[in-house]
Amino acid sequence: MDITEMLSCGNPDYLATLIDRTEKLRLDTLGNQVYMRGLIEFSNICRCDCFYCGLRKSHTSIRRYHLKRDQILHLAEMARSIGIYSLAMQSGEIASQAEVDFVAEVVRSVHEESNRDGSPDMGITLSIGELSYAQYQQLYEAGAHRYLLRVESSNPDLFRSIHPVSQSLERRLECLNALKEIGYQVGTGVMIGLPGQTWEHLAADLNFFVERDIDMLGMGPYIPHPRTPLARSTAGVLIDPYTTTLKMLALARLMMPDINMVVSTALQTIHPEGLKMGVKAGGNVVMPIFTPVDYRMDYSLYAGTQSKNLDALHQEIESAGYQLAFNTWGDPQHYYRRRNLPYSDHHHPDVRAG
Ligand code: SAH
Ligand code: SF4
Repeated sequence: MDITEMLSCGNPDYLATLIDRTEKLRLDTLGNQVYMRGLIEFSNICRCDCFYCGLRKSHTSIRRYHLKRDQILHLAEMARSIGIYSLAMQSGEIASQAEVDFVAEVVRSVHEESNRDGSPDMGITLSIGELSYAQYQQLYEAGAHRYLLRVESSNPDLFRSIHPVSQSLERRLECLNALKEIGYQVGTGVMIGLPGQTWEHLAADLNFFVERDIDMLGMGPYIPHPRTPLARSTAGVLIDPYTTTLKMLALARLMMPDINMVVSTALQTIHPEGLKMGVKAGGNVVMPIFTPVDYRMDYSLYAGTQSKNLDALHQEIESAGYQLAFNTWGDPQHYYRRRNLPYSDHHHPDVRAG
């Protein structure tokens, strides 16, 4: 079977076999640890107009917010105090140099605060959209060392059909190149079940990730947000997003055994077993949410976001035979291998602690 046939095969036994194979490989190579990123959605202000997203700038009926520096530092401290040593800072796409300066200052302060009393330093992932080379460099120097920028689809036509003309796949690829050159651990990914998306598109996405030699992968089902243009799309939807996402995860894990791969919140939102099955299908990262409760409703990329508290995450992951990994950065092994460096479970080589 080629990848397209594996994805389109509707036989549930085939999915079960694929997940079994993936679990064996994963336990042999990575073990049963699941890394954590404390997720801080620090702003829902966005300059883009992606057709699928509830934060798009034309969506005027949401309350826009932006957390203050001290609020973010407080959340970082909460995460660290329970042994979560990596943060993911996410927002709408940043529009100004002043905002980049703000994020750089916060990143620097997170490191300073953690180093002050000799407690372990924090790993920091950013996911704040397309920026210039110099801005990515500035944030790296401030101490961010991972970056997530999904391509949404590696197919130029499908990309075009879900974005305004001002956004292009070429530009995303340029950004991914810049991030890699600067030295970041680089993550990308796609949505699964988009209107007009075919099995061939998804198979090509998997090959694209391998060709780009990525360190981290974030894939989740597309969930329509009723107040977005894509929710009204009449283009056909081929696939069952839940089982297709599990297959995409499993195939990605088999093709890229040493990357980090997140079990997305979107997968957990569309199915009660999304977390457990996502981990069994090869996911080794989860993102417990630290965004203050008052703002969570305003950070609605799609309808009905489900976020689990840490206890629930813990229980579900243990019941699937896996373990949450506390007190570690949980860097992707792939990053060290592609740079010919010895793997360190705790500190990124370019980020100086203390
Ligand atoms: N603004 C940044 C980060 C926030 S959006 C960025 O775009 O990179 C993070 C991700 O949410 C996007 O990459 C997209 O894949 C996902 N997303 C947005 N709308 C979605 C929807 N309706 N269903 C599922 N995922 C969605
Ligand atoms: Fe903005 Fe990201 Fe949503 Fe696009 S996906 S509208 S860039 S928050």
